[in-house]
Amino acid sequence: MRRASLTLVLVLATACATNPVTGKRELSLMSEAQEIQIGQSQDAEVRRDMGVYRDPALQDYVSTIGLRLARASERPDLPWHFTVVDSPAVNAFALPGGYIYITRGIMPFLENEAQLAGVLGHEIGHVTARHASQQYSRATGAQLGLIFGSILLPQTRPLAQLGESGLGLLFLKYSRENEEQADGLGVKYASRTGWDPAGVPQMLTTLARIEEASDDKGVPNWLATHPAPEDRVQRVSAAVQQAEAGAQRFTVERDGYLRRIDGIVHGDNPDQGVVRGARFLHAGLRFAVDFPTGWEVNNGQTQVVAREPGGRTLLLLQMVDRPVGRTLQDVALRSMASAGLRASSGGTTALNGLDAFVGTYQGTLQNLGQVGVRGAHVLLDRTVFLLAGIAPFDEYTRAEPAFARTINSFKPISRAEAEAIAPNRVDLYTARAGDTWQSIAERHGHVVKPTTLAIMNGHAVTDQPRPGERIKIVVAG
Ligand SMILES: [Zn+2]
Repeated sequence: MRRASLTLVLVLATACATNPVTGKRELSLMSEAQEIQIGQSQDAEVRRDMGVYRDPALQDYVSTIGLRLARASERPDLPWHFTVVDSPAVNAFALPGGYIYITRGIMPFLENEAQLAGVLGHEIGHVTARHASQQYSRATGAQLGLIFGSILLPQTRPLAQLGESGLGLLFLKYSRENEEQADGLGVKYASRTGWDPAGVPQMLTTLARIEEASDDKGVPNWLATHPAPEDRVQRVSAAVQQAEAGAQRFTVERDGYLRRIDGIVHGDNPDQGVVRGARFLHAGLRFAVDFPTGWEVNNGQTQVVAREPGGRTLLLLQMVDRPVGRTLQDVALRSMASAGLRASSGGTTALNGLDAFVGTYQGTLQNLGQVGVRGAHVLLDRTVFLLAGIAPFDEYTRAEPAFARTINSFKPISRAEAEAIAPNRVDLYTARAGDTWQSIAERHGHVVKPTTLAIMNGHAVTDQPRPGERIKIVVAG
């Protein structure tokens, strides 16, 4: 959960032109100056809303590689910028004009410098081929949310334990042709600059494994508009073979890459809230909530959602707008009414020293039908939080005690406690005989799934590490 939500609104003035081929009037592509101007202005938003990952050495490293690739492209003179953003999602994207972003979340899933060059080259390809500009032109006139585009797998969510990426849903998708063209350009730029172009199909394979292992298969139209990652691997492999045929020796650089990402933050950053077992802690907003033991807690962009295993009962936590001058009760009743819930009882109370309005509500919600809700609106530092337990009507009585316990656990934490919350980090480890992804995950606090470790190290989930293999692991904060 983040303090700022992404609410970018873009309205572009565009020109209409007559297409010389069809004779139809259509939106014209923007000029290069316009591309750069859009990139510049949206770059500020990305930096503010996603945050820049605080590791200058890593930023320099990514920048240096990106610039070398970009200078070997068809548009070497764009004002290229490469930024590692502070997001746990596995993602990379581009803005028109040469602004390229890679998440810290994707870094541990790359195995070497050639794969990093593959990701950057792919994104550079979207810019040089003006895919983003085309998207912008098409989207003109509509008020859209965040409409810059280009991610490697547009609907890929991070692995389940990383939490959902609300951002993923805001990205405009590129067409199958655009994605394949960008893959091909990635191969071209990597091989021109001496990195092994096999990094492109390799990183696509890893992304395919992440997608495969994900519980959430994305929105239904994904398959209709996006080539399966496996298809992209096959298609781009021909280009890789061609590039390799005439080749000098290519650089892969695994050891150097691993050194660069040793210690990188993995999963949620405490400033955006972290999940530790069933507890949710937010260092930035300074509070903690204990969800019921055994529930799966997911820290999303705008909501924290905890689900009862196998059940249809859930608890959610989010911020609620508080118009100036409104009482907490007024805010509570209005916000619940806008969700279709009416109060059957409720009152103002104190929760661990905080003003709160706790009520019981009933109503009908999509997917759940008739529900009973126990909701607390809590005031902390001028921010109103809603912590609500939601159960299908016939299960409400059973779930109510767990809802009440969770609501009663909402408490502020001290500055010292907030500062003591450490993120999980990537560490390097040499596998020994008898090690399995399972045993390694267990030894280090089980902060990632065994399948995540396998994928992170370029293995199929059915493989095990080889004795003596230098691997990335994730250690508890
Ligand atoms: Zn792409």
